[in-house]
Amino acid sequence: MKTDTVSGNRGLDLEEPLLFELGRKGRTGVDMPDAPKVASRLGGLEREGEIGLAGVSEPEVIRHFVRMSRNNYSIDANLYPLGSCTMKHNPRLNEKMARLPGFGDVHPLQPESTVQGALELINTLGHWLKTITGMPAVAMPPAAGAHGELCGMMAIRAAHEAKGDTKRTRVLIPESAHGTNPATAAQCGFTVDPIPGNERGRIDLAAVKAKLGADVAGIMLTNPNTLGLFENEVIEVAQAIHSVGGYFYADGANFNAIVGKAKPGDMGVDAIHINLHKTFSTPHGGGGPGSGPVAFSAALAPYAPLPMVVERQGRFHLIEHRGDKGEPGEKSFGRMRTFNGQMGMFVRALAYMMSHGADGLRQVAEDAVLSANYIMASCKDDMTSPFPGPCMHEALFDDRFLEGTGVTTLDFAKAMIDEGYHPMTVYFPLVVHGAMLTEPTETESKESVDRFIHVLKSLAKKAKSGDAQFFKDAPRYAPRRRVDETAAARNPVLRWTPPAPKAQAAE
Ligand SMILES: *Cc1c(COP(=O)(O)O)cnc(C)c1O
Repeated sequence: MKTDTVSGNRGLDLEEPLLFELGRKGRTGVDMPDAPKVASRLGGLEREGEIGLAGVSEPEVIRHFVRMSRNNYSIDANLYPLGSCTMKHNPRLNEKMARLPGFGDVHPLQPESTVQGALELINTLGHWLKTITGMPAVAMPPAAGAHGELCGMMAIRAAHEAKGDTKRTRVLIPESAHGTNPATAAQCGFTVDPIPGNERGRIDLAAVKAKLGADVAGIMLTNPNTLGLFENEVIEVAQAIHSVGGYFYADGANFNAIVGKAKPGDMGVDAIHINLHKTFSTPHGGGGPGSGPVAFSAALAPYAPLPMVVERQGRFHLIEHRGDKGEPGEKSFGRMRTFNGQMGMFVRALAYMMSHGADGLRQVAEDAVLSANYIMASCKDDMTSPFPGPCMHEALFDDRFLEGTGVTTLDFAKAMIDEGYHPMTVYFPLVVHGAMLTEPTETESKESVDRFIHVLKSLAKKAKSGDAQFFKDAPRYAPRRRVDETAAARNPVLRWTPPAPKAQAAE
């Protein structure tokens, strides 16, 4: 990036090379004695050349990563309105709990008798998840939302196969669905049959009914849906899919909007993943791993994956293998990952639930929905929304308000970067032209949401005033301006190659 400073730095914003460009051969942060000479047992497979790691001192390592981290937008820095992602504050109490030695230092291969507390925690979290979803069983292993979807769809496949029903090849999925839904169905060998939405942004019930048949394995539906709207015909959808022997998979990524208010079990759901890293505030995105436990209806519960925690006479056991007749896990579809799940995420999620209590979790949903509607209502004269009426936890805008201005949704998003905001989710859902999906969450104060609204409205007015160039030049203040995202996706450079030696380069 061109700057008028000698160094390329801009005040607190420091330029930083790659670790490999920074490193020098032989430089190190630690002083280790030479390794003792031992006879090699590698049978001629030992490495002969240099491993090629960057040699850096301790202060260089620290500065490198601190400088890099300052280029990174985070929820700890400002409101992070990325729709569908529920970027909410991660309470520090959760971090403290996750670091308790009894949780932080346990190993998944330790004998059961030495990790009773950790197993109890998994069991207790599972109990809460069953309670708030209103469903009788839960599988804790899945490592993310998409992994939870895979878990749910594998259970659906196993349930059909157990009945000898192997002809079910189609899965119904709304056109507005998150991309992971069709990807999961395809991964499980199903054909994706898209269902259009209606003029109210909800799934078209008549279209669902028209697509039913004995070859339908199930439906995947998000409620609230990815347009931020509550599917008020969800019960009818469940009844329709059940009437042909299919199952109802609910994508629970948007659970933040209904936690404590409505139970998927009451909506006829057979399987739903809960993104602990969204609804229950465990750090995610660049900040940490995910966790996607799946709640199951009684019909699918027998097929849940292993391992599972069971309580017997006050002791906690892990069932790791498909058991004997009548034992839990007898019909399990098997194991989908090593070990028992994301332990650190479990601790954080349970800490979050316990510190909120049942009433607090209900208030989470109420405040999340209120914040989104506050944005929607405040911006209604300056921006346009594709669907009428109140929204749930996300305010969705389209690009009609930009029509004729020469400014696109992408330009608008880039201008937000200059204002100190991570852009909202743009161009998703695909069914809305120039979509801007905005999710403030409940953890922003009114003042914070007001500042954000002020930026949205001011930028919208600026676009309409004819200053398109202002948007085309954005972002001005980011460490990098407009990178070629297409080239980056199509031709990713995943490997650093050392520059050619000087003599050669000169030729
Ligand atoms: C985030 C999200 C997912 C996927 O969850 P990951 O944890 O990112 O795998 C699926 N569906 C919807 C609607 C989401 O928002």
